[in-house]
Amino acid sequence: MEPSATVLHTRVGPAREGESFTTRNGIHTTVLPKCDTNDGFWYCVAHKEAFRNQLEKDIHIHRGRHRLAWFCHTHGAEVP
Ligand SMILES: [Zn+2]
Ligand SMILES: [Zn+2]
Repeated sequence: MEPSATVLHTRVGPAREGESFTTRNGIHTTVLPKCDTNDGFWYCVAHKEAFRNQLEKDIHIHRGRHRLAWFCHTHGAEVP
């Protein structure tokens, strides 16, 4: 039985510079420092999920534990 009092264990942390991970497409990538451009999308390292916009990202991180990276169109994964 589910307990009626819902306790949300939400925890969202940023990806760290220099850490590497493999995307769902099997691409091995290393997290770079954030650059000056704003052209890219949010990516959850923990669940290998990319988000098309802020809203999708916010819904995804609403509950649970996540690690977010910024996926720059020019350079790849960056610190958010
Ligand atoms: Zn996630
Ligand atoms: Zn970049």
